[in-house]
Amino acid sequence: MTSHFPTTISFLFVLLSNSASAANDTGPATPSECDAASLGECYNKPEALRLKLIAIGTILVASMIGVCLPLFSRAVPALRPDRNLFVIVKAFASGVILATGYMHVLPDSFENLSSPCLPKNPWSKFPFTAFVAMLSAIFTLMVDSLMLTFYNRRKVSKATVVDHESPIHEMVPVPHGHGHGHCGVPQLDAEGKDGQEAVLLRNRIIAQVLEMGIIVHSVVIGLSMGASQNPCTIRPLVAALCFHQLFEGMGLGGCILQAEYGIKMKAILAFFFATTTPFGVALGIGLSNVYRDNSPTALIVVGLLNASSAGLLNYMALVDLLATDFMGPKLQGSVKLQLWAYLAVLLGSGGMSLMAKWA
Ligand SMILES: [Zn+2]
Repeated sequence: MTSHFPTTISFLFVLLSNSASAANDTGPATPSECDAASLGECYNKPEALRLKLIAIGTILVASMIGVCLPLFSRAVPALRPDRNLFVIVKAFASGVILATGYMHVLPDSFENLSSPCLPKNPWSKFPFTAFVAMLSAIFTLMVDSLMLTFYNRRKVSKATVVDHESPIHEMVPVPHGHGHGHCGVPQLDAEGKDGQEAVLLRNRIIAQVLEMGIIVHSVVIGLSMGASQNPCTIRPLVAALCFHQLFEGMGLGGCILQAEYGIKMKAILAFFFATTTPFGVALGIGLSNVYRDNSPTALIVVGLLNASSAGLLNYMALVDLLATDFMGPKLQGSVKLQLWAYLAVLLGSGGMSLMAKWA
């Protein structure tokens, strides 16, 4: 196969990939650069460990605050799902998810898979990042549509079982027909209720799959901090990762909010998200004697994981979150609201893009 895909997007990816590797290319890498930890002038194991332990605590708290902020918005009347402000908060959250895919995970994957520490053949001969991201986007679409089919079939065969999802209703103090944001067609008959159940199920699938996609990045950034022994790079990273997780938590929290889970499931999803980066740091500390950021195995595994998660996040942010809302009746009904929502998307994606400077 040639190194160019016959689509414009892939061509852009290839260009990006080439320029990224060109920027890194400072002559052939020596094997020692790739095998050993870099022992800069700042190498200090005990000080690094102290900072990493501080990082575990502060990142945990920051992630928790970030992911819970949107969830507590239920208490604010202006942020009920049928209000305009809710749509704007959601647009902000979608922007954050979009930037996570495009600005954090995708460039990371390019950097991993075009590293000079990997053998030129095959890694420089083919844009693996773009290829895996594309496959992952197709796969996400497949899961998305097949789960919907499966749910519809099951519903038909279990037509007599009514309302087994009752915990959601206690969480939503609004009447049926106004509780489901974009697609909530206000109908109270049986058909409308079925439609809403399908929308709710979709939102739940979206929240869980998104969490999976985000967690890959959260573990990886924690892991590389945990494996570092250099206090000079760890110190600024502690603050950066706190903001990173705060922001990303707000993005994920907005999507968990829309899934209208019961308090228990919300707590599980929030806890799972909040612990991943600290877990990554702890894992990095535990493995710091064997794990090297730029060993070929780590580069390939992390690079491929990042590429799959980038495809997933880009598809979900664009199709499931942004397109669904912007093409939906609520935003189609008001140009003014649409413009505010776009501002929110730009703020969310801009803020998250800024974080890409650090992690
Ligand atoms: Zn990041």
